Amino acid sequence: MSHVHIIGAGLAGLSAAVEAVQLGHSVSVYEGAAQAGGRCRSYEDSHLGQIIDNGNHLVLSGNTSVKRYCDAISADGFHIVETARFPFCDIKSGARWAIDINEGRFPSWVFSAGRRAPGTTALDYLPGLKMLFADQRAVIADLLDQASPAYTQFWEPLILAVLNTPLDQAAASLMRPVFTETLMKGGVHCRPMIAHHSLAEALIDPALAYLKSYGAQVHFGCRVAGLIVVVACSAICLPGDTRT
Ligand SMILES: Cc1cc2nc3c(=O)[nH]c(=O)nc-3n(C[C@H](O)[C@H](O)[C@H](O)COP(=O)(O)OP(=O)(O)OC[C@H]3O[C@@H](n4cnc5c(N)ncnc54)[C@H](O)[C@@H]3O)c2cc1C
Repeated sequence: MSHVHIIGAGLAGLSAAVEAVQLGHSVSVYEGAAQAGGRCRSYEDSHLGQIIDNGNHLVLSGNTSVKRYCDAISADGFHIVETARFPFCDIKSGARWAIDINEGRFPSWVFSAGRRAPGTTALDYLPGLKMLFADQRAVIADLLDQASPAYTQFWEPLILAVLNTPLDQAAASLMRPVFTETLMKGGVHCRPMIAHHSLAEALIDPALAYLKSYGAQVHFGCRVAGLIVVVACSAICLPGDTRT
């Protein structure tokens, strides 16, 4: 087994470290900040006297990567909301509506005017399927009708929230796993998961405890400034060299 060095104790670094110790490797994590969590960290706000998350995080119940990670570190810090109902508000017009996704796989919610975006029809949701089959270069805005109410009232806010990228720059293929793990499996897989107390308690502290229990070293205040790659080998084989 090898010794694995991981730079950064954000969610990516921590989940990599968790998988590495599960595979039997010893692990060192180097984190530049004084705490773990990266963009998903929590901190104590001395003014409010409270633990504050670095921004709201919404995870959906169908997210298999988060589930696998939480199972691995025995974390149970999320409350799963019982319905997949998402309130929307148009700040310009003040209009409010809710997308209310039914439990099962068949998307009956798109056939119910009260459960879909106002001014849309069931057919307006069909073009979303194009994202499932889009090639790597396809951009989402090119696949959807940007003038349609479904674009402004459903696709754009949904995809912007997921990818944090304007739709004229966002790769359609990135939405494929999101749709296959959530919307296409029905509302049971689209339920919001909200951290009981803080993101750190739900996702970060249990991972640090888990890594510690496996003897992994997590070094804080340790910013990696560069890597020196040393290639060690006993012979260099040139084309035509028949030595093995
Ligand atoms: C306000 C906000 C809201 C969000 N909402 C959601 C949401 O609702 N749902 C969702 O899924 N995602 C959400 N995200 C995104 C999510 O937080 C990030 O995708 C995720 O935390 C990124 O994890 P990461 O480990 O890849 O990177 P980061 O969290 O950026 O972690 C990288 C870590 O590496 C460290 N590091 C960097 N360089 C070095 C170096 N040279 N040496 C040592 N350490 C180094 C950094 O200090 C940091 O701790 C949100 C993010 C923000 C900011």
